[in-house]
Amino acid sequence: MKKARWKVFIGIIIFFILSIFIFIKWTDIRLLATSKLESETPISSKDVILGMKGQNVVQKDTIVIPVKENDQIETDPSKTEPIVELDDPDEVSENNDNHEQDTEKSSEKEESIVEINNEEKYVALTFDDGPTPDFTPQILEILKNYDAKATFFMLGVQVKQHPQIVQQVADADHEIGNHTQNHVDLTKISSGEIREELTKSNQQIKEASGDAPSLIRPPFGVYNNNLEQIASENNTSIIMWSVDTRDWERNPSYVVDTVKKKVKSGSIVLMHDTKHTTVEALPEVMNYLKKNGYQFVTVSELLALQTLNGIGPFYGNK
Ligand SMILES: [Zn+2]
Repeated sequence: MKKARWKVFIGIIIFFILSIFIFIKWTDIRLLATSKLESETPISSKDVILGMKGQNVVQKDTIVIPVKENDQIETDPSKTEPIVELDDPDEVSENNDNHEQDTEKSSEKEESIVEINNEEKYVALTFDDGPTPDFTPQILEILKNYDAKATFFMLGVQVKQHPQIVQQVADADHEIGNHTQNHVDLTKISSGEIREELTKSNQQIKEASGDAPSLIRPPFGVYNNNLEQIASENNTSIIMWSVDTRDWERNPSYVVDTVKKKVKSGSIVLMHDTKHTTVEALPEVMNYLKKNGYQFVTVSELLALQTLNGIGPFYGNK
């Protein structure tokens, strides 16, 4: 009987020692996991938000949507965008009077406030290559019908031709981004020329709308280290897309179907305000998105929401 008690006593001691050992190991594993998670936090997204508030953050703030499942970024210029015919290409090479690097911070810009709700779905519609008198005003009308905000990545040459449309876009509280002066492939020109392309367009947009853009969308969706560096110096973010509607080459039903198939909360949808196809497809696109609970936000609003709530696909450094 005494022996049996002794055995129970030894058993209890061993049980306690094992428990303590397991507890220590488990805590270690948890600490390790936590530090790993923290190291994967998208530091750059925070920088972008600070940058957009005009604070003095000159960190690398390039934003790209990483390739994820069927959220592929297409970066082959022949596939992603048309070669844009400019209204007046000759005029482009004139007016080289100001090559100064733009250091304008968007500090005067008021922060847009979007109610944050994790249950909600958000989408940022973007329109490239305008403004155009034939299509941009029609798109503005459609957006207004849905009380929707969108982002227009404008070309300097178009802005120069149609400053009154730029003003309309700004007055309706849409966001305006920089799509370069002449729609050139920025990977094929020197840093100096990249600066010139961006600065000129920036100035045109600021003159017409009152605000300098804080976003760049590189033509054809191609960019290199030089552009990242220049974007970073100017506190601007490079914005790609996650849903390519191919509106410039396909028909309206293709555009609608593509959105239906690929959109999810946090998507940035690429369209162009240069095509009748887009104007035709847009009401159905918006109907679908609205019916499915999406809120239409600008790109900057979307970035802010994603940083705060982790909504949609992960954004961060390339
Ligand atoms: Zn374009």
